[in-house]
Parts: sequence; C-alpha cells; structure tokens
Amino acid sequence: MDLGVKGKWALVCAASKGLGKGCAAALAAEGVNVVITARGLEALHETAAELRRAHPGIEVRPVAGDITTAQGRADALAAAPQVDILVNNAGGPPPGDFRHWSREDWLAAIDANMLTPIELIKATVDAMAQRGFGRVVNITSAAVKAPIDTLGLSNGARSGLTGFVAGLARQPKLAGRNVTINNLLPGPFDTDRLRKTVQAAAAAQGRPQESVWEQRRLNVPAQRYGTAEEFGAACAFLCSTHAGYITGQNWLIDGGLYPGTF
Ligand code: NAD
Repeated sequence: MDLGVKGKWALVCAASKGLGKGCAAALAAEGVNVVITARGLEALHETAAELRRAHPGIEVRPVAGDITTAQGRADALAAAPQVDILVNNAGGPPPGDFRHWSREDWLAAIDANMLTPIELIKATVDAMAQRGFGRVVNITSAAVKAPIDTLGLSNGARSGLTGFVAGLARQPKLAGRNVTINNLLPGPFDTDRLRKTVQAAAAAQGRPQESVWEQRRLNVPAQRYGTAEEFGAACAFLCSTHAGYITGQNWLIDGGLYPGTF
C-alpha cells in the first residue's frame, strides 16, 4: 500500500534507537524526509547514515539535543522546513516507589512525558491545519491502560498527556482540517530500554537476567517481544493519508498482553 506521504517532512523525536528509530525508518521507507533527534551523537549519526544508505532519495537531518529542554525543541523544529508529521517520544522515567520521589522527580517526568509533547504539538498543529494535512503520533505506554505500580511516574505523566490529547484531537479546527493526533501504547518491545528494565528487575530479585527475560516473554500471548520495525509500521500507517479518519485514539500494540475486551 502506498501511504501517500512521499516528500512530506517528519520530526521524529528520540529516534537514534528503539521505537523512535523504528518510526523514523518506516516513514523514511515511504519517502518522508526526516529530522531525527537524540542526546547521544554517535548513535544518532549512525542511525542517520543507515537511513540515508537505505533511502537515498530522502533528506535525513540529525539534530543532537535533549528534546525535554526548550533549546532541544527549538533546534529540532528549526531543522525542518515544515513539520507535516510529528512523532513525540522521549526516554521513560525511572521505576521506583512514590515514597521516595521528590517534587523534582515528578516535574522531570511531567516535563519529559507530558509537557514536551504538548509544547511540540503547540508549535506545529496550527500550521498543519492551515496546510490541510497533519499527523501527530505520541509514543506513550501500555501502562496508560494497565498501570505498572513501580512505574508511577510514567503512569501519571503519560495519563496527563492522554487526557489532554483526547480533548485537543477533537477540536474541529484540527480534526476538520485533516490534522489527526493519536497515541501509540507499546507493550513489551525488544529495545535497549526493555533490556535495562529486565536487568534491574533480575538484580532486584537475585535471579539470572535470562530467566526474567524468558518469563516475561512467555507472559505475552504472542509468546514474543515486539520489534521496533512492527511498531514503526503501525506509526507510518497512522501518519498516512489513509488514516485521516482516525483521531484521538489510543492504540495498544502489545501482542495481546492487555486482557480487557476494550
Ligand atoms: P530506547 O532506550 O531503546 O531508545 C530511546 C531513544 O530515545 C534513544 O534514541 C535515546 O537516545 C533517545 N532519548 C531518550 N531520552 C531523550 C531525550 N530527552 N531527548 C532526546 N532523545 C532522547 O527506548 P524505547 O524502548 O524505544 O522507548 C521509547 C519510549 O517508549 C520510552 O518513553 C519508553 O518508556 C516507552 N516504552 C517502551 C516500552 C518497551 O518495551 N520498549 C514499553 C512501554 C513504553
């Protein structure tokens, strides 16, 4: 299927690795020019080179910086002539017990996983509406639907973003101008982040890492972890011309892990 987005410009945040990289690669494969951001220079430039090699017909602009800062966002926005597609992503907050979290810990989580996407949406959606096309995809977490107690900072901050998006996406001045805003909710995907989480859980339980990894894998009805490529494919579809009637939605991609009917 031709997704109909060739030649458009996407800003994909936190995209040197993992799910963000999967989204950038899937969009690049559709002929979308991409601005990709990350904090670490080395992985960012490797990913940019990989995308250019695979898709010589598009422009790939890497921007190093912390997307949770005003400077990081300004640099990312300045690198694209216009933003037709915005994929919001940033590292997730650390796990822990809420009894140990300070106000600063909360503010950092809210900044990264709620206010940063809101700032980038604010900077881009009205121009998208003027041009009559826009797609925003926020990478959140399955924890929005099925909270994980040790990830309270993530549950809280991402739920705030989800509530905000639910209202904004339904504004006729956006939805009525072919601007959609949706959230993708990953369950367990095989990325650096998941491997670090499993490593920490194994150390806390005094168990071998491999056994925790296998136990979690078998917990998923699909009997496997998701891949960044399949996450990217779902993102690219939501960004396509075919998905203009899908807005304000929360798509779980979790191999069947969430047990509810709705
Ligand atoms: P990852 O660690 O594999 O990759 C994270 C990417 O984000 C890297 O490119 C890193 O450089 C970049 N990054 C992190 N913080 C940044 C910042 N402040 N500014 C710019 N770039 C930044 O992680 P992932 O597994 O791809 O996770 C992506 C998001 O999805 C995270 O918020 C994570 O909490 C969430 N998530 C992941 C899973 C999973 O199973 N992998 C499940 C649920 C939610």
